[in-house]
Amino acid sequence: MIPILDTKRQYTKIQNEVEKNVLEVLRSGSYILGKFNKELEAKMQEYIGVKHCVTLNSGTDALHLALRALDIGQGDEVITVAFTFVATTEAIGIVGATPVFVDIDNDTFNIDPKLIEAKITPKTKAIIPVHLYGQPCQMDVICDIAKRYNLYVIEDCAQAIGAKFKGQTVGSFGDIGCFSFYPTKNLGAMGDGGMISTNSEYLKNRIIALRNHGGAVRYYHDEIGVNSRLDEVQAAILNVKFKYINEWNKKRRENAYSYNELFAPYKDIVKTPFEGKDTECIYHQYTIKIENRDEVHKLLQENGIGAMLYYPVPLHFQKVHDYLGYKEGSLPVTEHNTKVVLSLPMFPELTFDEQKQVVDTLVKSIEKTKAIV
Ligand SMILES: *Cc1c(COP(=O)(O)O)cnc(C)c1O
Repeated sequence: MIPILDTKRQYTKIQNEVEKNVLEVLRSGSYILGKFNKELEAKMQEYIGVKHCVTLNSGTDALHLALRALDIGQGDEVITVAFTFVATTEAIGIVGATPVFVDIDNDTFNIDPKLIEAKITPKTKAIIPVHLYGQPCQMDVICDIAKRYNLYVIEDCAQAIGAKFKGQTVGSFGDIGCFSFYPTKNLGAMGDGGMISTNSEYLKNRIIALRNHGGAVRYYHDEIGVNSRLDEVQAAILNVKFKYINEWNKKRRENAYSYNELFAPYKDIVKTPFEGKDTECIYHQYTIKIENRDEVHKLLQENGIGAMLYYPVPLHFQKVHDYLGYKEGSLPVTEHNTKVVLSLPMFPELTFDEQKQVVDTLVKSIEKTKAIV
């Protein structure tokens, strides 16, 4: 049995430190927005290379409050991709704006910058590039388009903490970066968590107020906000895990290169992930492309390999977006990729022997499905 991710294996390595910090919080009596939240925000600012970070309850809230802070709402359009987790567009829907989908690049799985301008209208207010699977988007081109059309850029960094484009960390390019500490993310809490990054003092203050019922001063409320504070227990855990994020991301990259080598003899049947010369991908997922994907996926599961489909149905075909009226073939690259992608077990503690087993089982499964077809 090789899972797609093994959070328990990681826990045994940091157990003592985590439990010490958690106990400290439990005994302190201070459970919301205490010193561990402040420490985490300070460390993240430095790590991402921005002036401000604000911790929140989830990555979804980060996206939602980013849009709110930029006054994006009813009647506005926001450009993004349909090849992402639903939270990206859910946030757009929550504020009453309309998602406008742009197709992806076939190699990177990320928004294709060449297709953005054609989708810009007078109603367009922002672009949300998603650094999917830990692969940074082409931020120089995207920010240049945004500048020319006077649009905001909100980066969805939920899968890409620590990933770099041309040496610069994601979350520092746009107006706001949105992060998730969901347990399966590269820096995962032991519950829900999220954060925004920004260089704007105004946006930082706005989001600090929005996360706490719409007021910066207790019991004085300027606008409708939400309750989206990060639990102190989660912040305490994240402060421990933060120490290892570079080491863990490095291990993921090494594991990705081991997979690449193991797959080298099978170039004709397995397309391994692309990594551009400008980007440092942190392999939140290691995602390959194959034919007969669904049959192979089934065989892998039967053989105890926890491969997953991210994502089997593109967002423009989700019922929630029926009202947008997207037709089959409107986003051809996205539609094609949802049929061929397969994410393999990937986490820092994954061993080389396990990787060999994954590759071996996968190659055998592909051969088997060819016999069936
Ligand atoms: C996980 C994720 C989110 C949402 O984060 P939560 O913390 O689960 O709310 C948003 N966007 C992407 C691309 C994600 O993978």
